[in-house]
Amino acid sequence: MGWGEAEAMAMSRQETLANAASLWLERSTLDELIRLLRGEGFTVVGPRLDQGAIVYGEIERASDLPRGWTDDQKPGKYRLENSGGEAYFEYNVGPHSWKQFFFPPRLAVERAKREENGGWTFSRPEPSDERYALLGVRACELAAIAVQDRVMMNGPYVDREYAARRESALIIAVNCTVAAETCFCTSMGSGPRCQADFDLALTETEEGFVLEVGTEAGWEIAARLEHCEASPDQLASADRLRHRAEDQISKEMSNDGIRDLLLNNLNHPHWDKVAARCLSCTNCTMVCPTCFCSTVNDVSELAGDEVERVRQWDSCFNLEFGYTAGGTVRNSIRNRYRQWLTHKLASWHDQFDTSGCVGCGRCITWCPVGIDLTEEVEAIRQQPAKRREVPLPQPRPDACVVPGEAAADQSNRPRSVGQTIDDRQRGASDSAEAQQDASIADGGTDRE
Ligand code: SF4
Ligand code: SF4
Repeated sequence: MGWGEAEAMAMSRQETLANAASLWLERSTLDELIRLLRGEGFTVVGPRLDQGAIVYGEIERASDLPRGWTDDQKPGKYRLENSGGEAYFEYNVGPHSWKQFFFPPRLAVERAKREENGGWTFSRPEPSDERYALLGVRACELAAIAVQDRVMMNGPYVDREYAARRESALIIAVNCTVAAETCFCTSMGSGPRCQADFDLALTETEEGFVLEVGTEAGWEIAARLEHCEASPDQLASADRLRHRAEDQISKEMSNDGIRDLLLNNLNHPHWDKVAARCLSCTNCTMVCPTCFCSTVNDVSELAGDEVERVRQWDSCFNLEFGYTAGGTVRNSIRNRYRQWLTHKLASWHDQFDTSGCVGCGRCITWCPVGIDLTEEVEAIRQQPAKRREVPLPQPRPDACVVPGEAAADQSNRPRSVGQTIDDRQRGASDSAEAQQDASIADGGTDRE
């Protein structure tokens, strides 16, 4: 193709992009997209078959994707299945989440080296310059990334490694066309439709992909792909498949007053019932796309001349994680499960103005004994303690302020995944008992 011809084609593509709400890509264009992204210096990561599951890893070509595979998920159960079709993305979220690329499971945060004169030189590794293109991000996962953004880089304490990786990433979302028995994104207002926070979003149909563009970076990529405007039939087909996924979601969790419900029931007998089943294995926290607990270890090589300070994922289900001031503050499984659930669904609101749950269902599938947080909340809701309001801690003026929002009208500030706390001032009682319970939920004084 001559230069003039190529330029004319690029201009015609630009015109289509400017006029079209949604574009159409042939299925074969997926390879072109991956090649283009890799050519632009991105490490493309997406779903692939490994370890008997669909997990996230580097993708070099479309044939790396789990074409023709789906999964069967239930509490405590995950099985790969042949879908009998040709789709690349007809599966539900697996044990991996995207947090591994922005918040690596193991990361050197400091180094020390003994010099010849016996002194030590300290250095801090520079943040990674790897640019990730995330291919196949689901709506609940977009919400999870938004939650981690709030925690890791939109508050006063910025994790520079997270920020560097996150800000250079490109997100290609994929709308769900099937749902698992464990999904409950509709309850959390996080899915199944990808609404925002993506550069490109695909809906896979029997013939190809409907493509939506979310950002300038997305426009630039889309303009270089072979595409045309999506026809009404193609749009209708994509719409039908997205609705199929929504119709398949059967699990629900009511968020009505969930924060106060849990904090009012810290001594509910149901915590003992869960504890009798829970193995404290940490699976639920490892698979959760929003959990961010970590620990730090100093690791020396044998000669002791070089030491690395390594941050690695940890879990509030580990006994040592609650070790502080010469003792462990959560020394029973009951307390550790309660800490996890009340943090996720209650005190996370106080800390980050959002729920810590996006309804992805991973913790239900990957719990070896099938503990289902939606059922545990419902059990407490059915027989709650006498209702009283637990005051929200008043944040310090500089805590968790989204840059640029501090002086702005706070009423537009996103507060939750599908649910807002619109009663921040409502429970401003300063009952000492309530304060103590809130402190326990935050892990402060829960000794047994
Ligand atoms: S708590 Fe469970 S359902 Fe909610 S986001 Fe985490 S893994 Fe997903
Ligand atoms: S709730 Fe399930 S996954 Fe989580 S620690 Fe307990 S047994 Fe493990």
